[in-house]
Amino acid sequence: MTSVQFQNVAKVISLIILSVGILVLAGWGLEINFLRRPIPGLVAMNPLSAFGFVLSGFALFLTAYNRDRINQIGLVINLLCIVIIASSVLKLVDYYFDFNTDIENWLFTSRLVSDNLLGLSNRMAPETAYNFILCGIAIWFSRKNNNFFNSVANYVSVIIFGVALFSALGYLFSVPEFRTAIVAHPMAVHSAICFLLVSLCILLINHDKGFMKDFTGSNEGGIVARVFTASIFFIAVFYGLFLIFLHEYYLLSAQLLIAIGAAALIISAFFIVWYLAARLNSISTKRNLAEKNLLLSDERFFKFFKSSPVATNIIRIGDGKMIHANNAFLRLFGFLHEEVIGKTSVELKMIDSETREKILSRVKEKGFHIENVEVKLRDSKGKMKEVLSSTQTIDLKGELHMLNTLVDITDRKRIEKEIESSRQRLKDAQKLSKTGSWDFNLKTQELIWSEELYDIFELDYTEPEKLYDECRKKIHPEDLEMMDIAIQSAIEKGVAITYEHRVILKNGEIKYLLGLGEIINDENGKPELLRGTTQDITEQIRAQKVVEEMKKNLAAAQKIANLGSWQWDMVSNSESWSDEQFRIFGLEPDEIVPTYTFFTNSIHPDDKERVLEEVDMAIKGTKEYNTEFRIITKNKQEKYVEAKGEIERNIDGIPVLMRGTVLDISERKKFEELLKAANQNLELKNRELEQFAFIASHDLQEPLRTISSFTDLLIEEYGSTFDENESIYVNYISQSSGRMRDLITALLEYSRLGNRRELRKTDCNTVLENVKHNLHTSITQSKTKIVSSYLPVINAYSEELELLFQNLISNAIKFRKKDVSPEIFISADNKNNEWQFSFADNGIGIDNKHNEKIFQLFQRLHTRDSYEGSGIGLSHCKKIVELHNGRIWVESKKDVGSVFYFTIPENKS
Ligand code: ADP
Repeated sequence: MTSVQFQNVAKVISLIILSVGILVLAGWGLEINFLRRPIPGLVAMNPLSAFGFVLSGFALFLTAYNRDRINQIGLVINLLCIVIIASSVLKLVDYYFDFNTDIENWLFTSRLVSDNLLGLSNRMAPETAYNFILCGIAIWFSRKNNNFFNSVANYVSVIIFGVALFSALGYLFSVPEFRTAIVAHPMAVHSAICFLLVSLCILLINHDKGFMKDFTGSNEGGIVARVFTASIFFIAVFYGLFLIFLHEYYLLSAQLLIAIGAAALIISAFFIVWYLAARLNSISTKRNLAEKNLLLSDERFFKFFKSSPVATNIIRIGDGKMIHANNAFLRLFGFLHEEVIGKTSVELKMIDSETREKILSRVKEKGFHIENVEVKLRDSKGKMKEVLSSTQTIDLKGELHMLNTLVDITDRKRIEKEIESSRQRLKDAQKLSKTGSWDFNLKTQELIWSEELYDIFELDYTEPEKLYDECRKKIHPEDLEMMDIAIQSAIEKGVAITYEHRVILKNGEIKYLLGLGEIINDENGKPELLRGTTQDITEQIRAQKVVEEMKKNLAAAQKIANLGSWQWDMVSNSESWSDEQFRIFGLEPDEIVPTYTFFTNSIHPDDKERVLEEVDMAIKGTKEYNTEFRIITKNKQEKYVEAKGEIERNIDGIPVLMRGTVLDISERKKFEELLKAANQNLELKNRELEQFAFIASHDLQEPLRTISSFTDLLIEEYGSTFDENESIYVNYISQSSGRMRDLITALLEYSRLGNRRELRKTDCNTVLENVKHNLHTSITQSKTKIVSSYLPVINAYSEELELLFQNLISNAIKFRKKDVSPEIFISADNKNNEWQFSFADNGIGIDNKHNEKIFQLFQRLHTRDSYEGSGIGLSHCKKIVELHNGRIWVESKKDVGSVFYFTIPENKS
């Protein structure tokens, strides 16, 4: 029986008790004698007893019902118990001290008194009162959630049962002594039965507490106890009634009755003992069998243990020592059986003590049943093994042991690591190449992407079933149709596909992607998967565009510059020409397939041999290919070209490629020819002009000399006769002719400049020293200070250079400030392949507006009265500098000083 069933039976019994109490009270109330006194003439149940049974029944029902010990119900039960106990105690006090309170009289006085007048008892028996007190206590203890109180309640109910049994048997066997065994007032028959029921009910409520466990248990002891108790009870009642029957109807003697009773008892006892023996024997047989089976299963276990392919060992929990290890274990770790037995894993150096502590603490935490924990253990050679360990406890000869099974996962781990590392490598490779891979299930439309594709599409992780739609949303709408067609053709023809498409990113940016895909068939040969890769080729596409743009620009530039480019693959003897190259040769771009022969055939016959020789030298590496020649175009036009090229060689130095440019210089050549002619013409004219200037100045000197000598004669002969005016006029003539002579001399000088041109290594320091020497007097008189840095040695027309230095220094002295001694600083710097000389002075300076004018012939800024001069000095300077292909200029500030600069290119030096 289950606990619930016990409680249910208890509930039914408690309701019976309650009902009996109520019925008796009704009997008193309605004067139904049978209910008050079922056996006429004998004791009636006192109304107070009936009331006590109502309370007890109710309290017991609540106790059986209130199995979860709800507090409020508990309090009601306690209250009921207190009322039961208190009313019984009052009754006992009344009884022993004759207080005659008779609380029951409060209810049914007249009826109780009328009973008494008839000499019938209806008082509550003292044992009834005692029993009620015990009932109150037992019920109270039963409701407590405490083993001790519950088992005490059981013992108390046994007392109640005993007292009630006496009365009940007294009625059953009509033995008045039994009924009044303890006191003179007997207990009513239904009171006795009710008490029996109350004690039974309490025992059922506490069926799993105290001694009741032995009666209600499901094992053999419980069965025997129940059978035995029931048998004794029924045998005793049956034999009692049977003997009374024999005594009443057959008037048998007491001796005979005792003999019959004894015989019947012995026979009954024999059957009971037989039954008990049979039960015990069956238990023993079963146990023996179980032990045998256990031994057998132990044997089987060890057989299995030894032959198991899984490495297994048994460790005693007490000291951690290994007591068994199977062959698989020994094989796995390379030990001999005797090496491991009686040793701990730490002693065998399979684990260090730290790991062992870790395992132990884990075992303590989670108990000994551990499954599939990854552990690293060393084998006999110290090599680390990774195993999957499962542990559980087993009882061997009453001692706890750990049974460990160890599955070697070293290889699995290694493979896992390799897989992980190759997965990582694939991921890295995909990242580097900006390539993602994908699988598209044609049946379910499920799309699976590698991580890189999510990055390329800038999408968050999406479920395979939704990914295809999400992916399509990102693809450029103009490319969708093309992609669908490509996929369809792959499915229909089973061919691999390549397609380019664009995706639009969140920020509107466009990416170019290259997709490659192929169909994978299912086991029936039907297309199942489209598998492929997608590469981000945005940068390539952009680079391609840039290259195309550059090609266009180059072509345009070549067109504008009339510059063609070409490449001659000497291994395959093939040529490639730029568009402009074709045009230079009078062809449309790609009009013919260019070849080296075509090129050589286009060279002007007069130049051909030379050009081929030059190409040959370039190939041999003896001379750079940089030449000019004529070509005859398709429509027989003659063109001048400038060709340059370089050779590319392989690692063995063998020329494999020649590439270069061809520049159409026909125009330039034409211009150069014109320029040459113009120059020659100019030179001729110049020479004529110089000739003219020379002849003119030379011839002019003759009449001038005549004028001047006759003027001198005139003054000598007739000077004394001249009046004042005549003297002044004649002096004017003399001065003007002198001045004219100076001018003509200067002009002559100017026209002669450079005539005796001869470039010579000239040390400028020497030049300066010479000039200082020439100008010694004026330098000394004017107290001029000349400071110069170290001057270079240059290739120059030295006499002209000296004149240049002298002009600049004498000007600096001449145009000095009044009362200020001139200071001249001379230096030379090498700048951009030319020497830049500077002559700085502290003179009167020049107004900037005259910076150009002063270099012109006969241009002066002062009258001759203030500063002597002919206005030709700086013109000389300019001509000399230009003879050296240099420039001359001045930077000056009025009243502060001037710096005259001139340059002489280095290649002249
Ligand atoms: P000249 O010295 O005979 O006058 P130049 O041709 O040598 O003729 O000089 C032209 C003019 O440039 C000079 O008249 C003078 O006004 C100005 N000039 C030349 N050198 C200097 C200088 N160092 N300082 C100031 N003025 C100068």
